Amino acid sequence: MALLIETGLSDWISDNDIADGIRKLHPDADVRTPDNLGDPADITMLAVVDLQDDHPNRLPNLKLVQKLGAGVETIVSNPNLPEHARIARLKPDAPAQGIAEWFVAYVLRHQRHMPFHEAAQTRAEWSPKAPIYSPDTKVGVLGLGHIGARSAKMLRAVGFEVMGWSRSPKQIDGVTCLHGDAALPELLGQCDHICAILPSTPQTVGLFDARMLAAMKPGSQLLNAGRGDLIDEAALIAALDAGTPGHAVLDVTSTEPLPQDSPLWAHPGVTITPHVSGWHLGDALADVGENFRRLSTGAPLLHEVDKARGY
Ligand code: NDP
Repeated sequence: MALLIETGLSDWISDNDIADGIRKLHPDADVRTPDNLGDPADITMLAVVDLQDDHPNRLPNLKLVQKLGAGVETIVSNPNLPEHARIARLKPDAPAQGIAEWFVAYVLRHQRHMPFHEAAQTRAEWSPKAPIYSPDTKVGVLGLGHIGARSAKMLRAVGFEVMGWSRSPKQIDGVTCLHGDAALPELLGQCDHICAILPSTPQTVGLFDARMLAAMKPGSQLLNAGRGDLIDEAALIAALDAGTPGHAVLDVTSTEPLPQDSPLWAHPGVTITPHVSGWHLGDALADVGENFRRLSTGAPLLHEVDKARGY
């Protein structure tokens, strides 16, 4: 039984750094990296950012794919993943805190007219403009899971009126929680900012089409930190041109990196951040090592994904 770390990413964190971190926490664990793979038949657990199409075929005894992050859509939909293979994700505090901060930052950017004041300064121009009063501002959070619930609470603590939306009913102090497809247009029509932190599933892909964008409050702001495929980007550009919504802040796009010729880059109603809202993994490596131990002993896994539900 061995754990293989294969992220394929060198600009974030190296496979060897992750492997060393896990070995420190679990000195007896057999942790390998692609440059020290040994017999592929030993590998029972694979830790990845994205599962490659050929991974399952290369690793005949794979039992668990551990996502080094939260979004598991490319793993769930991998046609080569055997039926018996399980999937787990991470639920660390650090990215949840980071994404909640990202939502707060870009809502406040609008409330405090930051682009307006920065532009006025370049002209040495003293131009007072009343900030938008927080208690008069309604913010909707789509997805009330690990990250969304934390975001809703942080936005509430700043002083906004907060509504939330999920698949199943939720209760969060101070937050008006709605659920189910029928409730979404009602929420969209009331909110000045919509903060989307939904997983990519067959139900959420393309959810923000022309009809749903038109259901938003005129001039409102759409912020997306979940997955880019939530939004039909051509429909978004047409909707921004029509003024509903008034602005979009996108940390995720349907193709990443966003191609240089994408019209989103230059659109005056779009702000792009390059998938940085939930950067830090925090103490999540401990859960990867712990899941390897649990897989080896048959104990219930941490944060196992419901493959049928897709998240
Ligand atoms: P969770 O699984 O904890 O929460 C998902 C939430 O979405 C749940 O509240 C769920 O409802 C809701 N949901 C799912 N499908 C629907 C639907 N069809 N209609 C209404 N609500 C729905 O995930 P996380 O909060 O940890 O993460 C969410 C997503 O954020 C990840 O899947 C990932 O894609 C993305 N992400 C992006 C990052 C970045 O850096 N930009 C970093 C980390 C994650 P219910 O509770 O009822 O099941």
